[in-house]
Amino acid sequence: MSLPEIKLVFDDPVQRKKVPKHLADYSPEERRDVAKALGFPAFRATQVSTHYFAHLSDDPQTWSDIPAQMRQSIADQLTPKLIELVRSVSCDAGTTRKDLWKLHDGVLVESVLMRYTDRVTVCISSQAGCGMNCPFCATGQAGLTRNLSAGEITEQIVAAARACANGELPGGPIRLSNIVFMGMGEPLANYNAVMRSVRNITDPNPDGLGISARSVTVSTVGLVNGIEKLTEEGIAVTLAVSLHTPDDELRDTLVPINSRWNIKEVLAAADGYEKRTGRRYSIEYALIRDINDQSWRSDLLGRLLKNRNAHVNLIPLNPTPGSKWTASRREDEAEFVRILESYGVPVTVRDTRGREIDGACGQLAAAEKTRID
Ligand code: SAH
Repeated sequence: MSLPEIKLVFDDPVQRKKVPKHLADYSPEERRDVAKALGFPAFRATQVSTHYFAHLSDDPQTWSDIPAQMRQSIADQLTPKLIELVRSVSCDAGTTRKDLWKLHDGVLVESVLMRYTDRVTVCISSQAGCGMNCPFCATGQAGLTRNLSAGEITEQIVAAARACANGELPGGPIRLSNIVFMGMGEPLANYNAVMRSVRNITDPNPDGLGISARSVTVSTVGLVNGIEKLTEEGIAVTLAVSLHTPDDELRDTLVPINSRWNIKEVLAAADGYEKRTGRRYSIEYALIRDINDQSWRSDLLGRLLKNRNAHVNLIPLNPTPGSKWTASRREDEAEFVRILESYGVPVTVRDTRGREIDGACGQLAAAEKTRID
């Protein structure tokens, strides 16, 4: 049998030609070189970074440390608008908001903001579409359109931070606290752009947003080469692995990339990540009625995880249009939780925020009901 070839995309020549470049595509050092290459003194890059990441300002006319006649031109060249808001839809009394963004080539992606009493989480997209083809996932059905650039990913995050700071969510101004790569796409299949975005989140002002790595969750189908590479980065984000079942036979169907890297290999890679970073990882498990929610599977999962530093996030399946699958019965969900807990495995059930706006988990948003961290 020939195994599917999965290459991490470190460089994306097609992409680079198409998407306008943004300072968020570059490292802080490179930004200074870019400014110089554009004919500005290097320190202008730091000034623009300060306006972008520290002040979250998208109005160059207020950038008073830059000569008035230079403001628009430097903004156009270093911080071109890469995402344009098409529409926002809210629910949960305005505390959940889904934003639909149009990219420069007309491609659409979504992000979801969720406000809780003590924190705000944004769920962002790393690709337009997805190539992983998981049959229960809405994004997977349409295939991969293209990778997003680091700038396009970062723009979603900065837009969310700005919305929080501007008090656009009920409850008044608040700081964006958490970022989850659980929107469209497989983040580890767009490796470099995702890592640049992670650094834009975690680098202190003015190079980045200054949000701690532990507040960032990277969710993956289990690309082992990507998890291993992430382990070497020396940056302790929260790793989430979409397992969905403890047996390879069913996982080959639910998460087709399992035929390339099986459960044992994926968990070994996650263990390696945990060992290096000291970070407990998450196991994502969408509960699908009569497909993966039997008590014997919970038992098997409990045995698989009992000696690992992992916690399980159960996600009631959000049925996609036309799918024959649906969420588990309440009693089966409760029994699944009970069995896992009997093994001492920490488990939470995600809430179903944003379901009415098609922003619930699996379409886009993912939010834990209880945060363990
Ligand atoms: N590609 C990454 C991130 C994408 S989605 C990954 O697979 O991890 C984030 C989570 O939502 C994943 O665990 C995914 O399997 C899950 N998900 C996808 N579709 C879903 C659905 N219809 N209902 C519930 N969860 C779903």
